[in-house]
Amino acid sequence: MTKLKKKQESPKDVLLDPKGPYLGDDFLALCGERNRRFVERLRAEEEAVRQGEAQRRYRAEHPRIGVLALQGDYAAHASALEESGAIASEIRNPDQLNGVDALILPGGESTTMLKFLEKLRFFNSLEEFCERKPVFGTCAGAILLAREVLNPPQRSLGLLDAIIERNAYGRQINSTILEAETKLPGGPLEMVFIRAPRIVKIGPEVEALAFRDGFPTLVRQGSIMAATFHPELSSNRRVHQLFVDQVKAAASKLR
Ligand code: GLN
Repeated sequence: MTKLKKKQESPKDVLLDPKGPYLGDDFLALCGERNRRFVERLRAEEEAVRQGEAQRRYRAEHPRIGVLALQGDYAAHASALEESGAIASEIRNPDQLNGVDALILPGGESTTMLKFLEKLRFFNSLEEFCERKPVFGTCAGAILLAREVLNPPQRSLGLLDAIIERNAYGRQINSTILEAETKLPGGPLEMVFIRAPRIVKIGPEVEALAFRDGFPTLVRQGSIMAATFHPELSSNRRVHQLFVDQVKAAASKLR
């Protein structure tokens, strides 16, 4: 400020000096009243852009991921997502989908979820969302995503090119926890199976990342992920981290 005054620089000189305080207080002090208002507006716009930029950067690092919260194990998923660097929110109606970058369809009872989805006229908006944004279905959520459901057949979103058989390992009593090698880094992965379905067939676009008795338990098809187990019930966050990283990658492609 003092330096400028001493040298009696004009606003034009300051603007032309690449190292000068462009739109800084010094420049403002040298402006006439009319120019001053103009410069103040430019500064406000500049500040808004800076803030928007910071928000975008924050959101890219911490994507907002919704968890369908109509029924089932949604609360544990929300904590697992937060522990993996995302901002989680529970989704109970179609409008809430507008505020999230991706979605988890939790485990629970797929028939009950279907009933709620139909009753709330939620099915079509969910389908539309999952076609555009990353989605991760676990257990009942994986059943909802599959192209075809067996035992018995039921309606599904049909976005994952897979045939899935409900309750394929028997009743609740046959639920189990297994450890197996997967294609994820970090050694054997714990998998919690609760009245789990079995992915009996996958299409050519689907990549299998983990297995139980030779059948895929964790699969990926573009921005769709599905697991027949409950990663939210294990303490290891590798599976949620993989999804959050995928959501970040998808968001950076859009920018
Ligand atoms: N058996 C349930 C169904 O068919 C799925 C179980 C689960 O999500 N843990 O929908």
